[in-house]
Order: sequence, then structure tokens, then C-alpha cells
Amino acid sequence: MTEQPHNQFTGRGAGRMDAIAKGPFAPIYPVIAQQILDTCSISAGRCIDIGCGPGHLAMALAAASDLVIDALDSSADMLEIAEHNIRKAGLADRVHPVRGDVNDLPYDDGSVDLIVSRGSLFFWENRVRAFSEIRRILRPGGRTFVGGGFGTPALKAAITEKMREIDPEWEAKAAERLSRKNKDAIRRELEQAGITAYDIHEDEAAFWIIMER
Ligand code: SAM
Repeated sequence: MTEQPHNQFTGRGAGRMDAIAKGPFAPIYPVIAQQILDTCSISAGRCIDIGCGPGHLAMALAAASDLVIDALDSSADMLEIAEHNIRKAGLADRVHPVRGDVNDLPYDDGSVDLIVSRGSLFFWENRVRAFSEIRRILRPGGRTFVGGGFGTPALKAAITEKMREIDPEWEAKAAERLSRKNKDAIRRELEQAGITAYDIHEDEAAFWIIMER
């Protein structure tokens, strides 16, 4: 992976994402990390955070567990920020930035205990392939917590309030991502990937795919 297409997750876009993650979104990461641990019951072993961005979920999960986590992203600019954040948090021994694409994950079959991903699948160009890749690298007994969410409805409401000032288009974009139409498309793509062993955990603030192997 040497080329990096210019998009909202490169250059200044990566810096903006980090600022939002450190600002209005900051309270959601420890909450989601705890939801992952409670739901998946996997608190040690190898974990991958796909589309980690500036690394805040990976860091919160590492802080709350004994997991060793690869913070994987296709954007070199995001990973540079993630590396800085991880070092500053003193987590560099257990959270490792990795450049990679969800369509071609750089891991052996059945080699990963836990796969998490927040807010990234809405940008995956070929989710059927991505879901197949995720299942391929999951070990028997492993689990996923892949989707999007804001922790709790109250946290989502507080973020929406703050984001109205920062980005007037954000609320509509967030609503579209978690729309019934989009969720139905994701369910169909899971089926197309041949994935049958999964649960969806959803409420007004979240949509998570819990796959098992
Ligand atoms: N997970 C982080 C969070 O919740 O703060 C960042 C979410 S950000 C909205 C989406 C991230 O997914 C970006 O960092 C982007 O570079 C990454 N991404 C998009 N498509 C990807 C792909 N095909 N493979 C790996 N990462 C991808």
C-alpha cells in the first residue's frame, strides 16, 4: 500500500477527525470499549481495530483490557496521528499502528481473537469482500464488534448538539449512515458474503455486527 487517494481522511481531513475525536466524540470511546468487552467477553489476545482513524477506540480498549491491538487504517495520515496519540498515552507496547485495507487484511486465516471497527464500514467500497476478509482472519471462537455508534442515546444527543456548530451537514450524514435503508443493505451484504452466524445489536444510537466463528 503505497498510494493514498486524497479524501476526507487524508491531509487536513485527518487532523479534523482527530480534533472531533478529542472534542465532542471523546466520551464515547471508553463507553464503547466497555460495551465491546461486555458483549464479546474477550479481554486478552490479539485484536484488530479496522479503520482506527486517530486511534481513540483502540486506545480505550487497550486501557480497559489486556488485549494487544493492531490499529489498522488505509490512510497514512491518520496512522501518523494515531502513532503520536498512542505514544502520548503510553500504550505503544500494546497498540500498534498498521497500514492496511479491509479488502485485503494482512493477517493469516483464523489468527485474530477480536475484530472491532467503529464508523469505518460506511466508507468501505466493497462490504461483501470486507466481511469475507473479516471472517477469514477471525479464529474459531473469535468475535467481532463492527459497525457504528455513539455509546448511548444521551451521548449521541450531546454530540449532535455540538456538531451542529462544527459541521451543519453532519447530522444528516449521520442519520443516513444509520438509516433503515443502509442497515438493510448491510444485512444483505452479510448474507452475500455467506455469513450466517451473526447478531445485530442496534438501538437509536448504534448498529453493531457481532459475528462469531
Ligand atoms: N474508528 C475511528 C473512530 O471511530 O474514531 C475513525 C472513524 S473514521 C469515520 C473512518 C476511518 O476508516 C478513516 O480513518 C478511514 O481512513 C478508514 N477507512 C476507510 N476505508 C478503509 C478501508 N478500506 N480500509 C481501512 N480503513 C479504511
